[in-house]
Amino acid sequence: MSIVVVGTVAFDTVETPFGKGENVLGGSATYFSTSASFFADVSLVAVVGEDFPEEHVAFLQNRAIDTSGLQRIPGKTFHWSGRYGYDLNEAQTLDTQLNVLMDFKPELPESYRDAEYLFLANIDPDLQMEVLQQVRKPKLVACDTMNFWISSKPEALKKVLQNVDIVIINEGEARQFTGEANLVKAARQIIALGCKRLVVKRGEYGVLMFTAETVFAAPAFPMEEVFDPTGAGDTFAGGFMGYLANTGDLSEEGLRQAIIFGSVMASFNVEDFSLNRMKRLEFKEIQSRFSSFKALTSFRDVSV
Ligand code: AMP
Repeated sequence: MSIVVVGTVAFDTVETPFGKGENVLGGSATYFSTSASFFADVSLVAVVGEDFPEEHVAFLQNRAIDTSGLQRIPGKTFHWSGRYGYDLNEAQTLDTQLNVLMDFKPELPESYRDAEYLFLANIDPDLQMEVLQQVRKPKLVACDTMNFWISSKPEALKKVLQNVDIVIINEGEARQFTGEANLVKAARQIIALGCKRLVVKRGEYGVLMFTAETVFAAPAFPMEEVFDPTGAGDTFAGGFMGYLANTGDLSEEGLRQAIIFGSVMASFNVEDFSLNRMKRLEFKEIQSRFSSFKALTSFRDVSV
């Protein structure tokens, strides 16, 4: 089954304690679609400026991502600059240049409108809503966001959260959005808005998935080498949605497996800068790390 994703395709300038990447390929939709493309067909909705190199578009197309919804308009591509300290869990945004994002009017190609899976990646919530309204009858809609939009467009964002099935955000964002320090209480508040599930990403501490009645916890894969956490969240979401679209299994068990595939994809992405690790990733490595995950989290029950 195919997935439509709207989000940013960007130039990133990123500094971590291990090095610096300047004007490298980034963006929420770029990471998401690359990760999801290992599992399902993906169609991209995004905007770039005249300065965006063709080789990056070719990379997406080589991963069989449909780029007919990628607009190129006059102006400069969205640019994000960020820094990570030794605590790699929290990015510090140094600068956000919206550029062409300010004039972006998402217009979905006809072939995208019957998509069954829709991911509203991190982008202006008004744009997320415009895309949501153009997809006819999606089976599953999930969204992400970021502190930038929580503080600049809280009302528009609330509307998005009320209209999706699954919200996937960072723990800091869950706290910021609700003003609630306790994550379980914050999760309850977000679910009360109308979504069925909330997935809270906690960096190296893993992921929590909440419904009104249940909670599932997965660790992050313990990694010896973490170079650049940029895009980990979007890569997680790509593996999660990609696996769901691949199997069509939206049961609790299916969603738990998808959480692990998302975590597997994120664990690869942090091993190198930008999308460099994704570029050389092979499916058999994904399968092998899924098995390692199973071993990592399985233990014997007590015998009474
Ligand atoms: P992640 O590390 O998964 O949360 O996402 C990192 C990506 O988000 C980077 O590649 C950035 O280009 C992109 N990004 C940063 N700020 C924003 C923003 N305000 N809106 C949309 N995308 C953003």
